[in-house]
Amino acid sequence: MIVGIDLGTTHSLIGCYDEGGPRLFANPLGSLLTPSVVAMDDDGHVLVGQAARDRLVSHPGQAVANFKRWMGSARETRLGDRLFRPEELSALVLRALLDDAQNALGEPVREAVISVPAYFSDAQRKATRTAGELAGIRVERLINEPTAAALAYGLQERPDGSRFVVFDLGGGTFDVSVLEMFEGVVEVHASAGDNFLGGEDFLDVLETACLGDLGLGADTLSAAQRGQLRRWLETAKRELSQRTEVQVGGQLGERTVEWRIDQDRFARLAEPLLQRMRTPLERAMRDARLQPEQIDEIVLVGGASRMPMIARMVSRMFGRLPLRHLHPDEAVGLGACVAAGMKARDQHLDEVILTDVCPYTLGTEVARRDGEGQLQSGFFHPIIHRNSVVPTSREEAFWPTHPQQKTLRLNVYQGENPMVTNNIKLGELQVDIDPSLPSDQNAVNLRFTYDVNGVLQVEATVQATGKHYELLLERNPGQLLDPEQVRQRLAALAELKVHPRDKQENIALLARAERLYEEHLQAREQLQGWIARFRAVIETQDDMLIREHRREFGHALDALEQA
Ligand code: AMP
Repeated sequence: MIVGIDLGTTHSLIGCYDEGGPRLFANPLGSLLTPSVVAMDDDGHVLVGQAARDRLVSHPGQAVANFKRWMGSARETRLGDRLFRPEELSALVLRALLDDAQNALGEPVREAVISVPAYFSDAQRKATRTAGELAGIRVERLINEPTAAALAYGLQERPDGSRFVVFDLGGGTFDVSVLEMFEGVVEVHASAGDNFLGGEDFLDVLETACLGDLGLGADTLSAAQRGQLRRWLETAKRELSQRTEVQVGGQLGERTVEWRIDQDRFARLAEPLLQRMRTPLERAMRDARLQPEQIDEIVLVGGASRMPMIARMVSRMFGRLPLRHLHPDEAVGLGACVAAGMKARDQHLDEVILTDVCPYTLGTEVARRDGEGQLQSGFFHPIIHRNSVVPTSREEAFWPTHPQQKTLRLNVYQGENPMVTNNIKLGELQVDIDPSLPSDQNAVNLRFTYDVNGVLQVEATVQATGKHYELLLERNPGQLLDPEQVRQRLAALAELKVHPRDKQENIALLARAERLYEEHLQAREQLQGWIARFRAVIETQDDMLIREHRREFGHALDALEQA
């Protein structure tokens, strides 16, 4: 069985495709969404998911989140007495998910399809594959997240020429992609986004308004009070997706806080954020050379797309209502399951092939004449533009800038800036040319070929001599592990201790109680009592008793959190 995995920045999901269609698996806490957070507990056990997320509050130095942003880099995080690369942290999340899959399927899983953002670079994609390897599975295929969302909505069944926009607003990132059906193939035509715009920013807007109305400076609140206020506001934000008006209230230290806000005011306050979302949206449409009326469906994904103002903005822009009948935080995961089913050659999906885009512009360095006719070097000359559908191959001719030049140096860059110094250098080719020829007869053809695996082939052919040069750029840029390092890390990860599955609920409950201890000063003594009692019950190893106490303990924590 091949599983489908959405390895997300905030949450991850796993599932499969069977007779009933795509199906997601629950984690030991009964949730389909596992927080992409890794922590280490006091006994050196690795925690993944909700327990790790709670530890982020109670033991900030021993938990890490958001590491998807660092994929493809060598940035390391300390947990306990070890340093972890982003691939390793992702591998630990994958292992927890695979355990859920094994539990649901009754057999170990060996192969997976994993979704990645459309803008992920070659290095980030390779790092994702390495994470799979470190988790002990073969990554059969990486699928672009917007394509996965389209598959979840069955858009691959639409007629040729249909065009879709996938609009993904998560906790901290915003991505928009334009897809097109072509000869039964879903193609990502363009994608753009903002890596620092998401649901959290909408929460910030609420917080600023609330503090302003109450005449409070953020620095007049303690960290714990501020955390409490933000939790109330987070609940309010979610309720505002259902109701026109909500009330926030409770005790913040000495103060009794009471605040009301309605949907209209929230939308007005959030207008600058909505404006910011238009920029990537318009860029993706421009890159795809499409007008809003040429779009056949719009898909909303990501938890924050539940806010009604998002659907309203999208409807106004495109003149049609977006699709959003699937849970927006499950769509990509379900789509990965559909792709996994397809990979396993399930008949219904046989026809679909997916293509990708080149996420960055690739080009070379040229010199240009300025106003005075002087040559200035350092300009970036694109050969393959960002968002070109891959595989793609383009050739252009270049000439030496000086007479009697013996060699032509062809530098290869990736990036979106007009000056090469602001882009990333991938490599260079030194080409011998005949210095006796006049410059204008001394052309060199430069061909860039970018394939589905993210490999860039650079070829130079000297027109006069037919001499051919070649450069293969596979793993640039980004710092990736080599096969030997992968073997070493695999061995090291195998030594990490993980709590058995049947203990996970207890562990998560204790982690939650510790978080609440951190947050609720007034309830500390009570919490300590509950924790001590629950630990004692666990010691008895009496499953029935533990289950009973767990239920009670959970209810008590719910009550405390809602108070
Ligand atoms: P999550 O799926 O929990 O990672 O959430 C991603 C973002 O979506 C967070 O910023 C949440 O606040 C936001 N979000 C989730 N559910 C809702 C909702 N019902 N209304 C508004 N925002 C939401």
